[in-house]
Amino acid sequence: MSGKDKIALITGASRGLGASIAHRLTKDGYEIWANYHSNHEAANQLKQEVEAMGGTCRLLPFDVTDEMQVAEILTPLLEQSTPDVLINNAGFNKDTLMMWMKSEEWQSVLDVSLNGFFHVTKAVLLGMLKRKSGRIINIVSTAGQSGLPGQVNYSAAKAGLIGATKSLAQEVVRKGVLVNAVAPGFIETDMTAKLPVDEIKKTIPIKRFGKPEEVAGVVSFLCSEDASYIVGQVISVNGGIYM
Ligand code: NAP
Repeated sequence: MSGKDKIALITGASRGLGASIAHRLTKDGYEIWANYHSNHEAANQLKQEVEAMGGTCRLLPFDVTDEMQVAEILTPLLEQSTPDVLINNAGFNKDTLMMWMKSEEWQSVLDVSLNGFFHVTKAVLLGMLKRKSGRIINIVSTAGQSGLPGQVNYSAAKAGLIGATKSLAQEVVRKGVLVNAVAPGFIETDMTAKLPVDEIKKTIPIKRFGKPEEVAGVVSFLCSEDASYIVGQVISVNGGIYM
């Protein structure tokens, strides 16, 4: 699955893990279709970085929770070509204890992870099935494996996405589409910037946060021919915080 003229659609690609995955897959020879929500400045910067690496980046601003928007932007593109890999990376957290959690905080976090996965994957899947090849990688989280206090909504969203990964993997493997998940622990991005880093580091066996590139490398591997026998797995990239 490596080489020129392959397409990678990455949701939430403007910043953090998504941007790092875009850099890495550019290096691997993919044309990047970079979805993001509203941060045009970060998205334009990513496009410039990809182009400076000699790659191609198509910016696709849409809200993954909005089925109409997803269809409006993706349908004309999908009529021309089908991405070789889809990275469902867009994610969002609104941490608070369950007893204080508002309905909107519950709904919106599930919406991005679960409905976002559904809308984008549904749009791309038919083309992959017709072509009998594709890789789908869902970015989940340690929170969806172990649970974390203050993240009942986020943990439920990511655990749900792990379930979806395993079911879809079984549905489509015989059609040549391999579906897996990557579960990062604490990674240095905007999402973790306001956390008490020094306190948390003490609880991680490797004693540091991960770098986005350390997740992107695993995604790159799962997109490669070397991962041709990996199906329905959740690969943890977490410095040992959950084993
Ligand atoms: P981040 O820096 O906050 O970036 C989030 C990205 O998602 C941005 O590109 C944002 O677009 C996009 N996004 C958010 N809501 C969206 C929506 N409704 N539609 C389309 N795009 C949307 O986050 P990150 O840390 O890179 O996290 C990336 C993924 O890894 C998420 O799924 C997150 O849950 C997961 N993860 C992160 C960590 C960590 O420690 N950082 C750990 C485990 C799992 P805009 O720029 O336009 O806002």
